[in-house]
Amino acid sequence: MKLTPDIALVGGGRAGFDLTAPLDCNVYLIDGGDGELVLVDAGVGGVAGNTDLLLRSIAADGYDPGRIQRLLITHYHADHVGGAADLRDRLGCSVHGSPLTARTLAAGDEEQISLPAAKAAGYYPDDYRFRACPCAADLIEGEPLTVGRLTVTPFDTPGHADGHVSLLVEGGERTYLIQGDLVFHGGTILLQNTHDCSVQKYAASVAKLAGLEFDAFLPGHLTFSLDHGKRHIEAAHAIFSGLGIPRNLG
Ligand SMILES: [Zn+2]
Repeated sequence: MKLTPDIALVGGGRAGFDLTAPLDCNVYLIDGGDGELVLVDAGVGGVAGNTDLLLRSIAADGYDPGRIQRLLITHYHADHVGGAADLRDRLGCSVHGSPLTARTLAAGDEEQISLPAAKAAGYYPDDYRFRACPCAADLIEGEPLTVGRLTVTPFDTPGHADGHVSLLVEGGERTYLIQGDLVFHGGTILLQNTHDCSVQKYAASVAKLAGLEFDAFLPGHLTFSLDHGKRHIEAAHAIFSGLGIPRNLG
């Protein structure tokens, strides 16, 4: 689903637009116009995923999957990163994350991503496995990437998960914030009973994003906003600033 000349939503499951496998997060494609395409997040992969369907979705939007040279990961939860190894096998792309995400993905560390707890809670099938994948540790706050005419700047945004980054995309027809699972439509959040969720880190990350200027709000699940997207971050920030906790999806 092409959203603008710069960005397409090419994947997402039942907590989204049902474009690809049911457990997939929203998968975005960045087109900087210089021939290279960049994918953000990989979907669930493995026995719960469908890489063929994701690649068909990309092609159906008019993009050649063979032009995807980089895959950027917002955070290490299985629905965002589980498909990384499959995509790397199929596309030969490089994979990039924060240092913690890179270490976790390279090790296939199921405890760090809370996969046993998530399986016990019924989020993933019993036979689902987290496949390790080489990942560059170069999504660093203050170190922007260039994708053709676009600049992609990572910001550290823990709270939902350690090592979580949000990506500010500038230089296109508008400015975009691809922000993983930090804030969702209407300012809802996703705090879970996992070892690395933190209310205090959450509030600080939301405050950081509230200080950025952007038009489009592109979350890891549920619907997006192409304009006036800051209102979702500001709604959560207002509640955290009053010492409250925004409405939780979990
Ligand atoms: Zn998550």
